[in-house]
Amino acid sequence: MSTPLPIPRTRPTGDPAWSPEAVHILGKPTGAICNLGCSYCFFLDKEQLYEGDRFRMSDEMLETYIRSLIDMHQVPQVTVAWQGGEPTLMGIDFFRKSIEFENRYRSPGMTFLNTMQTNGTLLNDEWCEFFKENDYLIGISIDGPRKLHDAYRVNKRGEGTFDKVMQGLRFLQKHEVEYNVLTTVNRMNGDFPLEVYRFLRDDAGTDWMQFIPVVERVDEHGNPADLRGSYASDRSVEAEQFGQFLTTVFDEWVRNDVGSVFIQTIEAAARNWAGMDQSGMCVFNETCGLGLALEHNGDLYSCDHFVDPEFLVGNIADASVADLVAGKQQYDFGQDKLTGLPQYCLDCDVRFACHGECPKNRFIMTPDGEPGLNYLCSGFKQFFSHIDQPMRIMIDLMRRGQPAAAIMDMLAAEEQSLTDAIRRAGRNGPCPCGSGRKVKHCHGAAATSALPRTMPDQLGTPRPPVTERGKRAAARRARGEPMLSTEED
Ligand code: SF4
Ligand code: SF4
Repeated sequence: MSTPLPIPRTRPTGDPAWSPEAVHILGKPTGAICNLGCSYCFFLDKEQLYEGDRFRMSDEMLETYIRSLIDMHQVPQVTVAWQGGEPTLMGIDFFRKSIEFENRYRSPGMTFLNTMQTNGTLLNDEWCEFFKENDYLIGISIDGPRKLHDAYRVNKRGEGTFDKVMQGLRFLQKHEVEYNVLTTVNRMNGDFPLEVYRFLRDDAGTDWMQFIPVVERVDEHGNPADLRGSYASDRSVEAEQFGQFLTTVFDEWVRNDVGSVFIQTIEAAARNWAGMDQSGMCVFNETCGLGLALEHNGDLYSCDHFVDPEFLVGNIADASVADLVAGKQQYDFGQDKLTGLPQYCLDCDVRFACHGECPKNRFIMTPDGEPGLNYLCSGFKQFFSHIDQPMRIMIDLMRRGQPAAAIMDMLAAEEQSLTDAIRRAGRNGPCPCGSGRKVKHCHGAAATSALPRTMPDQLGTPRPPVTERGKRAAARRARGEPMLSTEED
């Protein structure tokens, strides 16, 4: 089991003077600007924070950022991560300059991991040659097969983007660029875990997957209310649905793909089951605070999910990255992940694996009325409880120097022996699993599914524009006029 991204160590609890040796900053050179209009994307609303802005990081700001990022590192590898909005809207030259600045300011022996999260729709030979030459690791967003992907991932005219994304993926594959796939799990594709997983594995041909839950907070009227809403939108995955999604994917993976397919959530769980001090995913660590977000104008925020005036740490034109990251405000932000846990989490059997997940999703009450429980709690409880036994087996195998993949043969043998015992017992005999029921009412019963099995036919509607600029662009589109470069799809 492995993870492709180096995750900085978090601070030892209770040591506010500790200076981090590395940091992971998501740079957003176009701010929230994107060429698509995915229905569930809360990033698009962030455009309001900088109303009237051009949303392009200047070369001067880029240079300041790379120099300051390098200066803060006390380890030889530096991660330079780009996200959006859609970062490819900046054009390749911006990223060429980023590489130039890395080379100009690097210390002897320093290496860089350049990463980019993209919707993939603008990728072509030129982009992928650049990525390959510079060893970029690319994350590409795909929500599953066509109908599931197009349910919400639409362009600004409301048209599905599946074909363009798959074209982008094929460019990455053609140029042998290292990539992983990020899939958001939402109310629509959440009912189709096997279809999504098998599509990514067999059709998209990826062996590194991230499954990120869509939790879109809204107010009591259903209006977007990021960080302050007490409800989840009807596009958000439901807690049990997400738990079942992960459980089903795990069951498929643990029988067929251990060692050949890597799923970030399972990798993180394995690290927590093994007792390692970092899971590799901030949401499943005890504390956080070393994954910040940099806006196009140099504003540094505590986290990409907290790009909000309350969580502005400072601007890198006025203070160094090192000082901003090591300051008390950011330290407290990271500690709040632990100190903000309700008693219900502190008493939870799977807290070592869950840690209350991300604070942005903690907006429901515990059964005894304490605020601050994670909206996805019931799903995490189900998932982490379900994988407990196989996780213990895999960790035990690895501790004995054997590959975790040996579990696949063990499970196959176990299932074959149960099948043989069922055959011997007959349909009216007691089920050999020990349930006390007859075979025909237990493991011999025909499989049924309570889930709706029809994939959606409707495409999602694009997220409505929130700024004057966005509204003007929507009006231009409606009149059939040409788009600006940042608005094309
Ligand atoms: S707030 Fe959530 S996403 Fe941000 S660093 Fe903490 S756990 Fe990670
Ligand atoms: S499963 Fe629920 S109770 Fe347990 S740590 Fe996670 S959010 Fe808290």
